[in-house]
Amino acid sequence: MLSLALAAFVAGQGQALQMSYPVEPGLRGVTVEWSGHEVPFTLRGDRWLATVGVDLDSRPGDHAVNVTFAYEDGRARVLREPVEVRAGQYPTTELEVEERYVELSPEDQARADSEAAETNAIYDTFTPERYWSEAFAVPVHGAKDGRNFGHRRVFNGQPRAPHSGADLRATTGTPIYAANRGRVVLAKELFFSGNAVFIDHGHGLYTTYLHLSKIDVAVGDMVERDQEIGLAGATGRVTGPHLHWGVRLLDARVDPFSLVRIGAQ
Ligand SMILES: [Zn+2]
Repeated sequence: MLSLALAAFVAGQGQALQMSYPVEPGLRGVTVEWSGHEVPFTLRGDRWLATVGVDLDSRPGDHAVNVTFAYEDGRARVLREPVEVRAGQYPTTELEVEERYVELSPEDQARADSEAAETNAIYDTFTPERYWSEAFAVPVHGAKDGRNFGHRRVFNGQPRAPHSGADLRATTGTPIYAANRGRVVLAKELFFSGNAVFIDHGHGLYTTYLHLSKIDVAVGDMVERDQEIGLAGATGRVTGPHLHWGVRLLDARVDPFSLVRIGAQ
């Protein structure tokens, strides 16, 4: 009989992945080494759960991660777990935007560089507290899906970074709601993103809400799932009003809807 070695965990490029193990007597905790972080699992009912992210540009194929099971008697067991990354199908999109967002002035370039450093420093911060326990909600009421995640983009004929979020239909003034409980870690206007809100949900998970016409929260605020944080708009590098909703999960650029699909955690 043919036996196939099946990866315990499978995820596409740019997808969130939930790792799960059953409870065991005497098991005190589970952690996984993921993207240089030691990610703790959370006990929910009869399972240990952790949510990790596979970056948009992760190499497709077989990977492996170390999972540590720590027992109350001091023993620890390390399991080398296979993770299969499947290639995503991401088309190329050509867009026309204001030229100043493609050929940046030296001042705008300096601003964009400093804002990129600031946002990368946020994403590199691993908050050990996990603020959320419910499923992630879509931040525009009634929206069922988003567009353009992962698309390779050409602005005014020039290739730029892939699109790392989902674009949700929303006219200017549409209320935008926090996808889950967390702390506001950025709430201001950025060069490319326009008016932006970043929420830290803990355990390396961030959601971002861009191009807003109005921001209703401030840095340091704790927000609840489904709390209004601002209004949709068309600020920054856009072709029209919409909500750009992004997820960073342990430094990985992940489709927000893949996080929603994981459901209750
Ligand atoms: Zn977008």
